[in-house]
Amino acid sequence: MFENLQDKLDRAFKVLKGQGSISEINVAETMKEIRKALLDADVNYKTAKTFTDEVKEKALGLNVLTAVSPGQLLTKVMNDELTALMGGEVTDIDLKNNPTIILIAGLNGAGKTTFSGKLANFLKSKGKKPLLVAGDVYRPAAIDQLQILGEQIGVPVFANLASKDPVGIALEGIAEGKRNNNNVIIIDTAGRLAIDEEMMNEIAAVKTQTQPHEILFVVDAMTGQDAVNTAKAFNDRLDFTGVVLTKLDGDTRGGAALSIKSVVNKPIKFIGTGEKMEALDVFYPDRMASRILGMGDVVSLVERAQQQFDEKEAAELQKKIRKNKFDFNDFYNQIQQIKKMGNMKDLMGMIPGVGKMMKNIEIEDDAFKNIEAIIQSMTKYERENPDAIQQSRRLRIAKGSGNKVEEVTKLIKQFEDMRKVMKQFSNPAAAAKMMRGMP
Ligand code: GDP
Repeated sequence: MFENLQDKLDRAFKVLKGQGSISEINVAETMKEIRKALLDADVNYKTAKTFTDEVKEKALGLNVLTAVSPGQLLTKVMNDELTALMGGEVTDIDLKNNPTIILIAGLNGAGKTTFSGKLANFLKSKGKKPLLVAGDVYRPAAIDQLQILGEQIGVPVFANLASKDPVGIALEGIAEGKRNNNNVIIIDTAGRLAIDEEMMNEIAAVKTQTQPHEILFVVDAMTGQDAVNTAKAFNDRLDFTGVVLTKLDGDTRGGAALSIKSVVNKPIKFIGTGEKMEALDVFYPDRMASRILGMGDVVSLVERAQQQFDEKEAAELQKKIRKNKFDFNDFYNQIQQIKKMGNMKDLMGMIPGVGKMMKNIEIEDDAFKNIEAIIQSMTKYERENPDAIQQSRRLRIAKGSGNKVEEVTKLIKQFEDMRKVMKQFSNPAAAAKMMRGMP
């Protein structure tokens, strides 16, 4: 599912790889790639545009100094925004009423009958006592199909082969359900090959007469943008309560899952992932977002970092970096904050792709021990003035920290290099100039 989109998003993120910070320029470039990936996945143009604009704004707003790379930060922003795009929270179906009446609508072939069976099966496993009503009066095979499914899952099916009146059958079904103490009544309805006035009138009449508590619109995810257009037409007429996306097990490009909520403003409640009765999942926007992004646990990694790093502090730090005043005290504090995020091996394991590689590698839990010892052996003056640490001072620091002088020199050199890079990236104009000079 969504492999193509995943690959393309991966490529988009590569633009940011190796970049020290998020800037207008690299974000604009990445967003262009992301928008392309979304359009290729058959996401509605307006949705893709609004989405990338929002991600860009959020990403630039988060441009603070943290322990995570721009690519990781952007992945987190993307994950949050994709989740919001698909509806944010999971939306349960409303089962308060007794009986709860659920109307199933959609075009022919979308998977209505299959879903009706799956839903009955799902509710039965939750302790409900459902009744299926075979309301697809134009397709005798649909009635047979529902009866077979009912038998298979042990759920009764109400049918009236002599009637061609969808409203009448629905009402008879409800009466039957009430008589038998069924607390959920699922009414399968007749579709058509395409949107048509007769079908809409018919199902609107069933709605008016039965007053369902849930109207679930079933749509084939493989139909991409058409799925979204059909959803809109049904919603305009029926004002349904939720969407069921079927056939997500196929090689769908994902566009329907990503655009439907923003176009009709109704939640996706279930997804179908196969022909079997068990192949039904409650739709969790956040889990779907992670799946689309093919992420490891970057989300938690960034969340941990965000908990540790105070935005105000980060802004102060930015100022210092810009003035080239970032010193060994700041460096030491940063190390303490990174350490608070957790054990190094755990942290690295959260980065997708790294976890597996790390399995057999021993990492000292205290990877910063030497660096800390060296900094601790510096005087206050030296920490604040790294430039002033000449040879005699280095010798003393080496002795004090139990290191060779080469180690001290290496750290000071690394610190200076880091300071240079940070300064460059803290100034957008300079960063832009530098990047233009890159091949
Ligand atoms: P209806 O005309 O809307 O009632 O559609 P059906 O329930 O008869 O489904 C049409 C076809 O799609 C059938 O062959 C189903 O087995 C198949 N189908 C339904 N849902 C899914 C799904 O989630 N995944 C897959 N792969 N096939 C499905």
